[in-house]
Amino acid sequence: MRTFVATKNAGKLAEIRAIFAGTAIEPEVFLGYGDVLEGDDDYLENARLKAQALRAQLRVAGIEAAVLADDSGLEVDALGGRPGVLSARYAGADASWDRRLATLLAELRDVPDAQRSARFVCAMVLLLPDRAAIETLGTVAGRIASDTAGPNGFGYDPIFWYPPRGCTFAALSPDEKNALSHRRRAADALLAQYARH
Ligand code: IMP
Repeated sequence: MRTFVATKNAGKLAEIRAIFAGTAIEPEVFLGYGDVLEGDDDYLENARLKAQALRAQLRVAGIEAAVLADDSGLEVDALGGRPGVLSARYAGADASWDRRLATLLAELRDVPDAQRSARFVCAMVLLLPDRAAIETLGTVAGRIASDTAGPNGFGYDPIFWYPPRGCTFAALSPDEKNALSHRRRAADALLAQYARH
């Protein structure tokens, strides 16, 4: 099924393409996608907003197809769940990733390992051409490392320590991350629901 993805984030898009490869959902990019203003407190609501915006933009272009949106974030327990839904805007909407990661590490400078627990959360919304919607959530638990490590991934991956593998997400290969990430878990739940639709 031809499915346009509501994102401008190249890292996310690459993962979504890899995760859905060979499934019934065939991700495509709509170059005219214009980002929406996101809310401040609900991943699913933000994913819905993105999906609905892209569907409206496709309709104007005369395209009827399914739409997939992902809203995700990093929740740090020692920060009361911040940056969470605001992860893309943490340390300022225009901050560089070096600055964002350094700011988060500085906020946690005096927090011991045992209290550095965190999780990635991903909400996915699939809007089908028959107007049905499938909504899922995926999470993966880890903790915030004391420094950045690893060449792969994007966003917060260099500081997200994944205890079962003893390394950060950025030190995993793309295939390894895509096999166990929050995005993979949300996608698996979505595909299971889609199969029953
Ligand atoms: P949004 O979903 O567009 O609101 O952005 C989510 C924010 O969390 C962005 O800053 C992403 O870079 C970050 N993020 C989401 N998923 C991941 C991930 O898998 N690894 C690292 N950072 C992520």
